[in-house]
Amino acid sequence: MRGRVNLALVMAILLLALTAPGLAAGPGGPGLSPDEALKMLKDGNARYLEGKTTHPHQDAARRALTAGQGQHPFAAVLSCSDSRAPVELIFDQGIGDLFVIRVAGNVAATDEIGTMEFVDYLGIPVLVVLGHSQCGAVTAAVEGTKLPGSMGVLVALIKPAADKAKVDNPGAAAEALVAAAVKENVFQSMEDVLQKSPMIKAAVKAGKTKLLGAVYELDTGRVQWLGPHPNQEKLLGGKGKVEGPKAGDKTGKRVKKKKQEED
Ligand SMILES: [Zn+2]
Repeated sequence: MRGRVNLALVMAILLLALTAPGLAAGPGGPGLSPDEALKMLKDGNARYLEGKTTHPHQDAARRALTAGQGQHPFAAVLSCSDSRAPVELIFDQGIGDLFVIRVAGNVAATDEIGTMEFVDYLGIPVLVVLGHSQCGAVTAAVEGTKLPGSMGVLVALIKPAADKAKVDNPGAAAEALVAAAVKENVFQSMEDVLQKSPMIKAAVKAGKTKLLGAVYELDTGRVQWLGPHPNQEKLLGGKGKVEGPKAGDKTGKRVKKKKQEED
């Protein structure tokens, strides 16, 4: 009897998964343009801000669908591990919607770039580097805090962005300096991705994927969109040829340091 009830439940879930609008095809991947995918992120954050979240795609039917048919996420997000910036919640998304890479300070070193290259593999139309206000890792880089163990190695990856923020904002108060460094660090990660991943660079250049920067405000819940990298055209230049790291190149340092750590 019980087995029969369970079977009926499974059949009902499967039927729902295959017939409910928007579930059968899944909301993602190759079917959406970068702008359509971006709109879904913006709409989700708007619902979150207004307290009108719908918590989509978090039920058994969605679980069954994605487990059975594979994933078709519509956006990839490289963000910080900070517990106050949970990516699916702030964009009001669910299972199989977002391909998320979280690491302190949203740095883009070898492992993160390697993970992001699945964006191309999965045909994800939008890739976001998401920093956040009051980021502890960025603050440590700005303040020059000496952290023990591998934390220090990670924060050192953010230092070039912190230094640039200091040069660009002479005399800025501590809070404003951290805010500037958070943005600069987002741009640095975006630059690292374009310089170190021929695959993602080609996808962006072809218009298949949009690479966008954003900053999440911990206090308001708002995602502030920064758009493409300010020098994206230059970074995509050279007819698809990927530039190697130059002497003193910040990007090279990031990947090199991570490699040394792995060694
Ligand atoms: Zn952070």
